[in-house]
Formats: sequence, structure tokens, C-alpha cells
Amino acid sequence: VTHELLARAQRATADSGIDALLITPGPDLRYLTGYDALPLERLTCLVLPANGDAFLVAPRLEVPAAKASPAGNLGIDIKGYGETDSAYAMVASFLSTAKVVGLDDHMPAVQVFAFRDAMPDVEQRLAGEVVHPLRVVKTQPEIDALQAAADAIDRVHARVPEWLRAGRTEREVGRDIADAIIEEGHVSVDFVIVGSGPNGASPHHEVSDRVIGANDIVVVDIGGTMPSGYCSDCTRMYALGTPPADFMAYYPALVEAQATSVASVRPGVTAESVDSAGRDLLTAAGYGEHFIHRTGHGIGLETHENPYIVQGNDQLLEPGMAFSVEPGVYLEGLHGARIEDIVVVTQDGVRALNRRPHELVIIEPA
Ligand code: ZN
Ligand code: ZN
Ligand code: ZN
Repeated sequence: VTHELLARAQRATADSGIDALLITPGPDLRYLTGYDALPLERLTCLVLPANGDAFLVAPRLEVPAAKASPAGNLGIDIKGYGETDSAYAMVASFLSTAKVVGLDDHMPAVQVFAFRDAMPDVEQRLAGEVVHPLRVVKTQPEIDALQAAADAIDRVHARVPEWLRAGRTEREVGRDIADAIIEEGHVSVDFVIVGSGPNGASPHHEVSDRVIGANDIVVVDIGGTMPSGYCSDCTRMYALGTPPADFMAYYPALVEAQATSVASVRPGVTAESVDSAGRDLLTAAGYGEHFIHRTGHGIGLETHENPYIVQGNDQLLEPGMAFSVEPGVYLEGLHGARIEDIVVVTQDGVRALNRRPHELVIIEPA
């Protein structure tokens, strides 16, 4: 986080015809200031005017935490307010000439309404139109942070065979995986999907009390947040004993589809073309109708952010964009499969951050 980034955000704010951004706790505040603030009912808000000095409004009792955060080293004024002051009126008084403000995309509705009441004649827009185009292109330190997250989740996948056993429930296995996500360096577990047998055919199944069977296929899709704030997200496929023929009928095509989408990534191609690359292959193999979601999502300070790798998104890829490539095949009532890596667009192509092999991991009975 640097003062230069704030200056860039201010120029982008001016270019968007917005007079000031109002950024509340969440990924955009962390991105712009490094302050990982608690989302409280009391207002904490970075006021970033298109012209003039940025400042942070915080409840007086949060001021020490704000000063101790990276925001304290940015040289921006931190204005504390007391329990009986109106923080909204205070912000409004500093923005008396503003006609348009951009509100944080994640601001609670109650705060949006309080700003509207404090500034009734000011048009409200979303700050995301300014901040998301900045966030979508990662700097080298951000890519390094995503690589560290990918390495940490790869280490968890390497250990999954220790815990995945017939006779255990998905929930029991999921608990071991969650512990490992922390042990390997994350500060929080964002999600753990252990989809065994037919549960693997539901892409967002998390865990259940289903007992894993002796010949099950298991989808393991896991992720967490690192101390840096950057997230991991990776899916690998496991089989207990011999995988069934109707699974092996599509798994090689899925591996090829995932690799084909990754290989299609380079600067200047559209996001949707990366989706098409793998999808066309699965469709030709007869599984197109079983690939029921988009190919991927951007990742950074949030697990799901721009750019979305989906039909209809003709956004051109640029060096520094980071996203998942995660095609899947889902056969209802039987099993499903997905392979997911985070990739980064480089100057002339692509680099995968996750490095575990894509082959089905076969776990023999103990
Ligand atoms: Zn995932
Ligand atoms: Zn994902
Ligand atoms: Zn978001």
C-alpha cells in the first residue's frame, strides 16, 4: 500500500465524474489503505476526494487501531468522533460541494441510507466502478502474495490422503482439512468442500454427515485467507480404490479441457474465450450439458472478484490479472469432478500458481 495508489484512485475517481469515494471496512479499504478494519455498526470510512486530501473517519475508540494499521503510515488524517457525534454529518460537512459520491460496494444498506439522509441532494454511485478496475490488475507484491496462498493450499492438498478414508464422514475429513488450512499458513478457512460420491455432482456442496464409501470419487475444493489478506482456492480429485468406468469416461476430457483453457490465456484475449476453449472440448466429448457453471472467477483480497471467466464477458485480459480456471463435469446421482488452478496473466502468456498434478489421486485401502 502506497500513497501513489491513493493518488491513482483519486485520478480514477475524477475520471469517473465522482467527487469522492466513501470506502467502509472490507476488501476495498484494505486494498487502498492496508487497514483491515472491523465492520462495526459505528461508521469507519475512508473519504477519498477526487481533488484534495484523503482522510479516515473512525469512532474514537478505533483510532488507535487505525493508527497502528498500515493506514497510519499513509500520511492521511485520521479523524476520530465521539459516541454522540454524527459521523455522517461530519463527512457531509467536508463534502459540502460534492454532487456525486461513490459508496463502497460492500457498505451496509443502513449506512448507505444514513449517507443519503446526510447528503440528500448528492447522487450515490458505486465505488466499485473506480476501485475494481484498479484491483483487477495485480502488482508484483500482490502476485507474490497469491503465490504464497497457492503454495499453502497446495501443501494442504498434498496431505489430503492422510485423512480421506472410507468409513469417515465428509464432515470429519473436512475438519482435518480445515485444521491443515490454518497449519499451513492461512489465518482463516474460507470454505471446505468434500463432495463424496453423488455429493460431488453438486458444485457448491460443502460437507455433510455422509459416510465416504469404499469406491467413492471425492471432490476436494478448499481455500482460505493468508495474513496478507490474499486468498487461496484449489480443487483436486480423489478416488478411494478403483475409479468407476463411467467416471474415467470423462475425467481425461476434463483434464484436457482445463489445460486447454489455461493454455488459451494471454494478454489481449477475452475472458469469455478462455471459457469457450475448455467448454468446446467438453461439449465435443459429449459432456457440455454437464458443465453447469462458468469457468472461473478473479481472486485477490476476495475469493470471488473480477474478472469473471464467463460467456458474455468480452473484457480483454491484461498482464497481472489473476483468476481461477475450474471446469467441471457433474453427473447427478453418480459423481462429479472439477479441477481448479489459480493462474496469472503474464506479459506473453500465463502462469499457474497451483502446481499439484491434475491426475486423479487414488487412495488405496489401508
Ligand atoms: Zn474452488
Ligand atoms: Zn474457485
Ligand atoms: Zn466484492
